[in-house]
Amino acid sequence: MKKPELLSPAGDLERLKIALTYGADAVYLGGTLFNLRANANNLTKEELKEGVEFAHNLNKKVYVTVNIAMHNKELNKIKQYLIELDKIGVDAIIITDPAIIPIAKKYTNLNLHLSTQTSTLNKEAIEFWKSQGIERVVLARECSKEDILDIKKSIDIELEVFIHGAMCASYSGRCVLSNFLTGRDANRGGCSQICRWDFDLYDGEEHLEGEKPFTFCTKDLSMAKYLKDLIETGADSFKIEGRMRSAYYIATIVRTYRKMIDEYFENKETYEYNPKYEQVLRRVANRDNIPQFFDGNYSKDVQYYNGRQETTNQDFLAQVLEYDENTKIAKLEQRNYFKKGDKVEIFGPKDEYTFTITEIYDEDMNPIDIVRHPKQIIYIKLPFKVAKDYMMKIC
Ligand code: SF4
Repeated sequence: MKKPELLSPAGDLERLKIALTYGADAVYLGGTLFNLRANANNLTKEELKEGVEFAHNLNKKVYVTVNIAMHNKELNKIKQYLIELDKIGVDAIIITDPAIIPIAKKYTNLNLHLSTQTSTLNKEAIEFWKSQGIERVVLARECSKEDILDIKKSIDIELEVFIHGAMCASYSGRCVLSNFLTGRDANRGGCSQICRWDFDLYDGEEHLEGEKPFTFCTKDLSMAKYLKDLIETGADSFKIEGRMRSAYYIATIVRTYRKMIDEYFENKETYEYNPKYEQVLRRVANRDNIPQFFDGNYSKDVQYYNGRQETTNQDFLAQVLEYDENTKIAKLEQRNYFKKGDKVEIFGPKDEYTFTITEIYDEDMNPIDIVRHPKQIIYIKLPFKVAKDYMMKIC
């Protein structure tokens, strides 16, 4: 059985490098045009070139989302953009609009992946897309295990499935609630997440005082518990959601799934789901997560009904910028408050250490007790070796 690709979001060049360093086999990202995350720091042409070179040097891949549904006026710009992506050497583009297929086939050698925005759930639809030249289908998040198994055994095509992250209350993001209520176009990456808002309840004209506000907010997806089952469906690529997520989130999620996938392939017969991974994943989540449609147990527990339930997470304390092996001093950038005497953990792609902070220095190497300023540069002496982009968190 082939090891599935672990595919991470990359909202910018920094997160691209972190995702690949922490164990992703490939990343997906938006370029400057035609993609669904208008608010992510989408990569410029130069950054994209650097990112592709970085990935290819590690024998890893970069996919670019070109996944908006296009209006007529956009059609004349797409050809040049695709030619540019092809020249840069991206490994595939992720598309929704079938108008892109003939243009990409005529003018480029780009591989074509079909976005989850097409809500593709069945083998007949996949046969159709394959006949049009699609090499990989990103299945709709609403597929069950049986759907995936059936498709995989019926058609020879690469399947990509979501394993972690936020869900939409609509079919894989086909939703214009945001357009109607706030004028922000969800199909241009501007979704204002209306489904997670609180709505007061009315009975006709009468406001139901005392009733909790209603929300459509779905819980998040996590396939940690069902990872073995998912691997055994033969799905080719496991995708993490979240091009707007932080570097710390990406490092944590990628590293955790990397470990779980590798553990399964080290010994398939004895592999057992280890709940400690679920705990790690939950620490960076701001909502409960469940396997959603995969196990077929779609029930009333898949969403919140009363008010927003998100929690903010302040576990992430600092990111390592440099480490001097001679002095054993690390330069870090602050993310959340911490102080001398705190017990903390530092982790990298494969290792982690716990220790109590005994010395902190400011940028001018003056000793300090507390680190309270966002993005403050500080120095800490460490009793072990770290490297750039190691993460420090609450223990
Ligand atoms: S409003 Fe909610 S359901 Fe609609 S696109 Fe945005 S996140 Fe998805």
